[in-house]
Amino acid sequence: MRGRIVSAALAALLACTLGWAAPLLDNLVVVRDGSSFSVLVEESRGYPAARASALADALGYAHAGNLIQMDGESVRFIAGSPFFAVGGQIYQLANPTYTSGPHLMIPASWALEWLPAARPRQWTYMDGRLVERPSVTVRPPERDHWLVVIDPGHGGRDPGTTGVGGTREKDVTLAIGKRLADRLRRESDIEVALSRNRDTLVSFADRPRAFEQRGRDEVPDLFISIHANSMPRKPHSARGFETYFLAIARTDEALQVALRENASLQFEDGGSAAALDPLNYMLTDLQSAANLQESRLLATSINRSMAATLNGPDLGVKQGPFQVLVGATMPAVLVEVGYLSNRSEERLLRSSSYQAKIADALADAVVNYLADYGQRVWSSYGSGG
Ligand SMILES: [Zn+2]
Repeated sequence: MRGRIVSAALAALLACTLGWAAPLLDNLVVVRDGSSFSVLVEESRGYPAARASALADALGYAHAGNLIQMDGESVRFIAGSPFFAVGGQIYQLANPTYTSGPHLMIPASWALEWLPAARPRQWTYMDGRLVERPSVTVRPPERDHWLVVIDPGHGGRDPGTTGVGGTREKDVTLAIGKRLADRLRRESDIEVALSRNRDTLVSFADRPRAFEQRGRDEVPDLFISIHANSMPRKPHSARGFETYFLAIARTDEALQVALRENASLQFEDGGSAAALDPLNYMLTDLQSAANLQESRLLATSINRSMAATLNGPDLGVKQGPFQVLVGATMPAVLVEVGYLSNRSEERLLRSSSYQAKIADALADAVVNYLADYGQRVWSSYGSGG
């Protein structure tokens, strides 16, 4: 039964998540239809709860009295009870609903836990938010090829980071990006565009638009930005690879990586190293939010593939507020292929054999991801969802 009692672990997770988003402590955020909706949450009973009317508005559902009308199904709450009914089935929450003045208050876990479990094709719970799954950004079924944008990070007057031995990030990313493009062009159903194929600077905003700039008006399917990592002090023993998708940073390390990569903005005409407001990346960039789930899957595929072939260590799939991913309206990731601040890894990263190994790992991941993605696209079209 889906409406199982919320486990202690999940309750702790929810509490922790709401507590973590300190500036938004009082809100439950729903991302839907290209907009972000904040629902006021109160904790007068010791657990987060929201007004049924506000919650229904945010979710795009109708509301009347103790009813929330989802598409095709109504949810009937009982004030003062943890039980609720949907289509003749009874479910239970960890905490009861209650009334506050004229308002029915619904525990946040109903929206954050029950809803994504009951309607997995429509809702997903991610990074403290309830996000409606994308339904329009996937490839139209009539197209018989995938469009992949490969973005070698930095370029021109923006060298990126510089290695212990002087290796420039922009050269490593271009070499790997070109190899990856060559490798993917061998696939009959993949078309590739590089955001740059020489030592030149392209703005963050233009990088995902590589096809558009070649006169193509189709929305690409994937965007992969390639980078190399660095520690503030060199040489440094840190090494390994990691893959990011766009979201609020969860750790200080992830935030530091994003800040460093975002500093490229200062090289753009009219650009400045703008103050970073991580929350705004998510809250204002709704198309990316809709692609969050796919971006995470792509990042997972890439990181798994690198783990299988590269020397490692595998630093994992992470999330961060990367400016370059903000403009991407398709599944998009940023790969940090290794540390130039580490002597031995710098040597590897400048060798063409290791660059080829990275390109192969990335290409395998893209091919695998697209095969799965295609299945998800077909099945969603097939069922009219
Ligand atoms: Zn970089």
